[in-house]
Order: sequence, then C-alpha cells, then structure tokens
Amino acid sequence: MPKNAEIIAIGSELLTARRMDTDSLAVTEHLNLLGVEVVVKQIIGDDRERLAKAIKTAVERSDVVILIGGLGPTEDDVTRDAVAQALGRKLLLSLEQESVLISRFRQINRPMAKNNIRQAYLIEGAEAMPNPHGTAPGQFLSTGRGALALLPGPPREMKAMLENELVPRLRPVLPPEVIRVRSFRITGIGESDLDTLIAPVYTKYTNPVTTVLSAPGDLFVHLRARAATIVEADGLLREVGNPIAELLGDRVYSEDPDEALEMVIGRLLRKQHAKVATAESCTGGMVAARLTDRGGSSDFFIAGYVTYTEAQKREVLGVPKELIEQHTAVSEPVAAAMAEGARKRSGATYGISTTGYAGPDGGTDFNPVGTVYLGVAGPNGPRVVRVRYGADRYRIRALATQGALDLLRRTLIQSGSGSLAGKPVA
Ligand code: ATP
Repeated sequence: MPKNAEIIAIGSELLTARRMDTDSLAVTEHLNLLGVEVVVKQIIGDDRERLAKAIKTAVERSDVVILIGGLGPTEDDVTRDAVAQALGRKLLLSLEQESVLISRFRQINRPMAKNNIRQAYLIEGAEAMPNPHGTAPGQFLSTGRGALALLPGPPREMKAMLENELVPRLRPVLPPEVIRVRSFRITGIGESDLDTLIAPVYTKYTNPVTTVLSAPGDLFVHLRARAATIVEADGLLREVGNPIAELLGDRVYSEDPDEALEMVIGRLLRKQHAKVATAESCTGGMVAARLTDRGGSSDFFIAGYVTYTEAQKREVLGVPKELIEQHTAVSEPVAAAMAEGARKRSGATYGISTTGYAGPDGGTDFNPVGTVYLGVAGPNGPRVVRVRYGADRYRIRALATQGALDLLRRTLIQSGSGSLAGKPVA
C-alpha cells in the first residue's frame, strides 16, 4: 500500500505576509523520492492547543507526519509540548541531549540561558536527531500508523537534518516503492474536450495519479504510478495509459515530456531527408522562430518569409494578383499559393503558410477575427485547413503557430516514414 504524508509548518511568522513556508517544499521532494505522497499541508501559528488538535488528527489519518519549526528555547516554541499532549506522552529530560547542548554552547563560546534546557527534552519514546547547525535537536518517533518527526525551522538546519537524519530513518519503515511516470504531449484538441474524452478512463483510478496541464494549443497528460516494483508500476501505466493513447490517437505528438512539437517535426524531417520553408502572414515569423528554436535546425529549415502585405505575398512568394483579388489575402487559395511559393522559392520539400485575422480589428462576415488558413505544400500538392480560434490576439497567433506546425507534422506522418506517437505500448 502506498504511504501518505502530512506536513505541518509551525510559526506565527509564516502566517504573515513577510514569510513563506519554503521548508515544506524540500520535505515534499524527499518524501516523493521515498514513494510517499503528501496529501495535506498546514501552517499553524504558535498555539499549543490548536497544534495539538492538528497533530492528533494527522497521526490518525496519515502514515508519516512531519512537523517543521517551533523547536526553539522560548515559551512560544510549542511543538514539543503539543506533540506530547496530542499523543498522551510525557516530555522527558535527556541527559545526553543536555550535555550535547552544554558542549555546543561551550563550542560557540556563549553562555547557555536557563530556558535552553527546554531543547533537551524528548517526547517519550522519541529518538533525537542531531542538529550540527543549531541548538534544537530534531525528534523521530513511531506512531500507531507510521512515523512522526520534528524538524527545526531554519532552512539550513532543516535541510541538513532532513537529508542526513530523517530520510535514513524513514526508508527502513516504508515499504519499498517505485514511482514511474508516463506522459503524453497532445495538440489539436481543447482542454475541456480532452478531459471529456479521457476522464472516463482515468477517474476510475487513484493510482496512477493523472494530471492535465495546458498551454495555448499544447496539452500534457501525466500519469504517475506508485507500486512495489517497476514491473507492477509499469503495468498500472499501461492499464490506464493505453486506453488514453487509443482515444487520443494521432493527437498525441510525443510521449517524451521534453519533446516539443517542433522537435518532433525536426526528427521527422531529418528522417525523410526533407526540408521546410515558411510563408507567414498573421503569425509574423512565429512558426519560423519555433522551427529554429533549437540548435541543428539548419538540417531541415531553409527559409522563412514574413509577407504581411499583399504586395509582398505577390513579389516574394509569387502569389498571383488575380488570386488575391478574387479571394482576398485571407483565403484558402492564397494560403495554398503561399505554401507553394515558399517551397518553390527556397527549394524546400515542404512549405507551410499562415494567413488570417489575429485581431482585434479586421475580419469579414465570412472570415471574422480569429479565422486563420493554415497551408502546407509538399510533393503531393497543397493542403489547407481553415480554423477559427475564439481568443485574443496573443492566443490566436500562438494557436495558429501550433496549428501550422501540427499540420506539417500530420503531413509528414502520412507521407510514410513517421510513426505515430500514442500507439499502445505492448
Ligand atoms: P530555532 O531553534 O532556531 O528557534 P525553530 O525550530 O524554533 O528553530 P522557528 O523559531 O520556528 O524554528 O523558526 C526560525 C526561523 O526559521 C524563522 O524565523 C524562519 O525564518 C525560518 N522558518 C521556520 N519555519 C520555516 C518554514 N516552514 N519555511 C521556511 N522558513 C522557515
């Protein structure tokens, strides 16, 4: 069974606008590496009663409970007392910790104040965790469900104790567990349509955990499985991931979380020994920028033409005057001619084009703002799709850029040598 954890950060200063609880992020990261999921995180002021209540609930419902801060020597450092109260255990003076404290003060050449002795008290049954960077020792104890730990608040002290003392104590009491992930990068579908499509599959499972992230025209689905062995975790990823891949089909452009759409295109073009050129209007060079974003793009990118005016579409790309007069510059035949023009003028295997109304002004009744024609021309002739984005100028241009790149990707896949991502894994 996967284990769950709960973190309580203690300190009234963390409830002000001046201080942030950053310690819990480091704790979360290490717990995740141990296969433990953080399910609740709280910040509680220096209030013993409130804290004791929270600790009582935490140890009842969570396997691992981590308390951060409130281990200082003063009256408002209430963590030790609150744990003792919540668990019904005594606080006992540890003679060993007392001598550690005394020698530490001697070492730093400072007199030890009377109230510092509070830091030498351990909760009944707890083991002290040394703190080489401060005076407050941490504490580690077993609970009915699992383990509870007290860590000091200052980040430097906390981090050293977390890594050197807590993780080695937690590892043996936790079941061996691995976390495996599977990711899908998706385009050509909106976020809510995507969720409607795949939610019936993933909502049936709490393991793997499925998350959907989105950027304009670019969606990510991440599956995160926890299990005792790699084989078991991969089995869970297949059980949920394969039906998702099936439903999404060629809208999945990569299963590598770091492979952006333009990288997939570069891979496909290289494989076909093919080259591309762009002819852009409303995207103003954004498609070319994406294609040249990474080193080595000269392997497949020849030229990018940004032809914003009708005159430039004619002169640079050779779009016939009559075509523009008859259909306007934002039209299917002009998008096709622009893609063909880029291809012919540069000698590329493929030309891709964008022409549309990014707004906020412009557009016609037939082609309102947000309408974009995306073209691709290759050895098998031109192909144009008309899309309509209900968005602002920034998003329309980003979506059109992504759309044009995806049209090229699909064309490359159909031309034979590319394999579709998103096929079920055997
Ligand atoms: P000390 O023995 O040094 O008093 P402590 O365990 O009592 O340690 P606190 O007094 O609660 O720690 O906090 C000391 C300082 O550590 C705070 O002023 C704050 O700057 C920092 N701190 C405490 N908790 C956190 C946290 N969760 N995230 C980031 N910083 C924290």
